[in-house]
Amino acid sequence: MDKKEKTIRIEGKDVALHPEHPVRFACMEHADTQIDEYVDEFEAAPDTYRAASIEDDKLDKRCRECGAPAEIALLREKGM
Ligand SMILES: [Zn+2]
Repeated sequence: MDKKEKTIRIEGKDVALHPEHPVRFACMEHADTQIDEYVDEFEAAPDTYRAASIEDDKLDKRCRECGAPAEIALLREKGM
């Protein structure tokens, strides 16, 4: 894993991320279970955004659980 500063573009703004915490996606149905899983795995509540507001073509915006197009993005902002 790259431990350098990681940023992501959200609605035209560069947002700094905790490098050890990934960006994950979930559909509406699985948003709650994915948030719970994130908390369990990383011992931190994720910040959530609309998946469509994440401006990164390289990310696979599909629900981690069922593979459906994601509605929600889960990530951890630095300094939050
Ligand atoms: Zn799902």
